[in-house]
Amino acid sequence: MTQDELFKTLVAHCKEYGFIFPSSEIYDGLAAVYDYGQMGSELKNNIKRYWWEAMVRLHENIVGIDSCIFMHPKIWEASGHVSAFNDPLIDNKDSKKRYRADVLIEDYIAKLEEKINKEVEKARKKFGEAFDEAKFLETNPNVLRNRTKIDEVRKRMADALNANDFAELRQIIVDCDIVCPISGTKNWTEVRQFNLMFSTQLGNTSDDTNVIYLRPETAQGIFVNYLNVQKTGRMKIPFGIAQIGKAFRNEIVARQFIFRMREFEQMEMQFFIKPGTELDWFAKWKEARLAWHKALGMGEQNYRFHDHEKLAHYANAATDIEFNFPFGFKELEGIHSRTDFDLGNHQKYSGKKIQYFDPETGESYTPYVIETSIGVDRMVLAVLSNSLREETLENGEKRIVLSIPAPLAPVKVAVLPLLKKDGLPELAQTVMDELKYDFNCQYDEKDSIGKRYRRQDAIGTPFCVTVDHDSLQDHCVTIRHRDTMAQERVRIEDLHKIINDQVSMTSLLKHLK
Ligand code: ATP
Repeated sequence: MTQDELFKTLVAHCKEYGFIFPSSEIYDGLAAVYDYGQMGSELKNNIKRYWWEAMVRLHENIVGIDSCIFMHPKIWEASGHVSAFNDPLIDNKDSKKRYRADVLIEDYIAKLEEKINKEVEKARKKFGEAFDEAKFLETNPNVLRNRTKIDEVRKRMADALNANDFAELRQIIVDCDIVCPISGTKNWTEVRQFNLMFSTQLGNTSDDTNVIYLRPETAQGIFVNYLNVQKTGRMKIPFGIAQIGKAFRNEIVARQFIFRMREFEQMEMQFFIKPGTELDWFAKWKEARLAWHKALGMGEQNYRFHDHEKLAHYANAATDIEFNFPFGFKELEGIHSRTDFDLGNHQKYSGKKIQYFDPETGESYTPYVIETSIGVDRMVLAVLSNSLREETLENGEKRIVLSIPAPLAPVKVAVLPLLKKDGLPELAQTVMDELKYDFNCQYDEKDSIGKRYRRQDAIGTPFCVTVDHDSLQDHCVTIRHRDTMAQERVRIEDLHKIINDQVSMTSLLKHLK
């Protein structure tokens, strides 16, 4: 399958097997809004649990909170979101389609990178064993030309974004001959700023004083509770506050399925530190977060860091952990050194003193912050796109399997009586009763055993347990492993341990040590 086909197959698969549905589907859906079905919500909950336990349970100095979506409107003035949470948008006059100017340029750069990759692949085929990739990249004229172009365009874009120079952004699009993917023309409007926050009214009057925003990030709920948590939890710096919750952004171009939505969920942790130590902590959290991803075993080559050229209004260092999605390497998680920007501004706007008194040195200061911020939905997409594969079996049949990391799988074990009679369903139910308190189980007695295996493969169930006539005598069952399809005969009383060793969250968390 090409990456494009894989992505289409994935979207269809997610719907067919109850992972993700278009929202309001019976009314023809709502753009860029999706609902999680019976399988998707289990997967999402497992991802959230993995993150929460890695943060809050494994770190004695990190605690979790749950703040509201609605917050005092002044918060968004203090945080800079009212004035600076904007995207530069541009319209194509022929197709009437709207784009983010920076995304059009990023896509152009990605195409140039693709050209370089193709050039490398061509040469690799031509030179075979003798191919020296590093040398080729340093000397091939086509590669060098494209590389220079990429560097030039990147620099121009970063400068234009940093200076809020929209005329220059438009000029880059014109100079690079970027055309609208729909109309194919270069008939562009000017570039304008567009604020991404959704607003609504609080209470029953609709004048401006009652305008409040749906939070565009969960982080501010953490900052405004900093004093509450620090005092009531007697927290000593360095310490962190973690939160999982919904965020809303009126994205100009919401696309690529659940990659960019207007309503999504974030897992954010703000780590409060002494000013001057931020670059050390930034490096530590970069490493810790990459380790969290790698522990899932989804391929180390599928992650990379991308340091920001344009820093957000609050940051003095920032990087993204990018994942190799079917549409290329894209941001999965952001790690930002936010300085004292947020706490300092909340102090200014609220008039309340927000400081930390260090009992050891006797000094007071406004803490600096390192933030780690990951989208739950992007994580779901990373897991699903990495897991889906189509295999041809020895007998020529095809099977679709979701090799989801076992601790994240929605269903851990399926219990299947070979036949719907002779006491097999009753024994299978006893097995269910033994397992269901610790693992999400499914009982299935319909159709042939082969069809039942296929159904479980398609939702990523790591184990199928089959109860047959011999089981009535020897109290053993057949356990089948999803990825290898290997089968082994085991005692019913050993099932719990065998399954637990593979699927428990503890086994995954222990990789982080
Ligand atoms: P992008 O550059 O892709 O717009 P961002 O840099 O604005 O993302 P952050 O503000 O750093 O994103 O948000 C932190 C995380 O929240 C992102 O890494 C991503 O996983 C997630 N996220 C942000 N916007 C969306 C969205 N519209 N839909 C789904 N997830 C999102």
